[in-house]
Amino acid sequence: MTYPDVSSRSNAIYERAKRSLPGGNTRTTVYMKPYPIYAARGAGCRVWDVDDVSRIDCINNFTSLIHGHAHPVLVEAATKQLALGTAFGMPTESEVDLAELLCGRVASVEEIRFSNSGTEAVMLALKAARAFTGRPKIAKCEGAYHGTYDYAEVSLETSPEHWAQGAPQSVAYAKGTPKGVIDDVVTIPFNDVDGAVSLIRAHARDLACVMIDPMPNRAGLVPADRAFVQALREVTHEIGALLLFDEVIAFRLGHAGAQGLWGVDADLTTFAKIIGGGFPVGATGGRRDVMAVFDPTRGKPALPAGGTFSANPVSMRAGIAGMELLDEAAFAHLDAIGEAVRQGIDEAFRSEGAEGRTTGLGSLIKVHMTDKPVRDYRSAHLDPAGQRRLATFVARMLDEGILMAPNGLMALSTVMGRDDVDAIVSAARAAIRASAR
Ligand code: PLP
Repeated sequence: MTYPDVSSRSNAIYERAKRSLPGGNTRTTVYMKPYPIYAARGAGCRVWDVDDVSRIDCINNFTSLIHGHAHPVLVEAATKQLALGTAFGMPTESEVDLAELLCGRVASVEEIRFSNSGTEAVMLALKAARAFTGRPKIAKCEGAYHGTYDYAEVSLETSPEHWAQGAPQSVAYAKGTPKGVIDDVVTIPFNDVDGAVSLIRAHARDLACVMIDPMPNRAGLVPADRAFVQALREVTHEIGALLLFDEVIAFRLGHAGAQGLWGVDADLTTFAKIIGGGFPVGATGGRRDVMAVFDPTRGKPALPAGGTFSANPVSMRAGIAGMELLDEAAFAHLDAIGEAVRQGIDEAFRSEGAEGRTTGLGSLIKVHMTDKPVRDYRSAHLDPAGQRRLATFVARMLDEGILMAPNGLMALSTVMGRDDVDAIVSAARAAIRASAR
């Protein structure tokens, strides 16, 4: 069955969905025209849709499923906990176990607070930075995605009209964002030391923190230059602001996460996705003195934070099982298959004589429909012709049996092997031919 097909079961479900969900949709990110493909089940690196078509899953629930679907070790950990109860109005030992594991991996993380998503983790980190410093503003990179907290969303999208002004502008992404929120976000250019440092210095006394995802998916999925990260570390020290590493995705890059790879110690770190073993999770960690804003032992904390399902033991136990599977050998495997996919697709672009290239690191790959260097949000931006080519590429990948994100992102899993790499690269070659036309 090729996509789209009006007689498909997915299309029939979508017709029903339109009556009870806005636009038939729950997550904007999974919306597809003319209808989304509905998943029925997953096993290993494959997912079957409701029409029983199976594909290799290179979305992996937007990078969270680092061990693919229904991994037996994770299923066992979660099922064992399901039988013992799924949530309590009490803490459980499981949150201590996962906190110890994460603190043991990331040197700068001395204490952790769990929540239910990356959005919540970022929200709590930004609130913690404000509570700790007593300052109102935060800085973030142009085009970087950090979830849907009002402040984190500012300048997620900017346009050539904004770029005409040179330095990044702080602009609303969602309609209805209060002006006060926009005014309290300083947007800095990614991978531009001088541009970023001068904006940060200009707001020195008001900045609570500078937030960076060292490999921002929506801003090109290019690794931050070491010099850029170092400059942010130094300037935040200089002005008394905190450095926040958003590792919601980047934590899948290595045993000690992005900070291990970049050789930097942040003051605050956000986690989510892979640390929940396939279940909802978020975590905010950092320096003990900063994390003290959550501490209730001396009365009402500076930053009270609850969350009915925060640190629920199913997410914690599955998370621990998933993290324990991620030893150095697992990362070496992910790095090797990621590199093979990037090289294979780049080679296919070259030999087909088509404009395009990949970026990324480790198990994360992004396909760009341009030959120009991609360094940041602006250089990753596609013109309408490029957008059409990318849409054709992604649609053809679907028909070739490969699921990937509409924005060109792929995230591999530990259960993929060389055969899967070959299948992905050969599908990409067919998709490059189809999209070059
Ligand atoms: N931060 C980053 C870097 C992300 O990529 C995402 C989601 O993709 C988030 C935060 C938000 O995480 P969640 O979707 O779990 O709310």
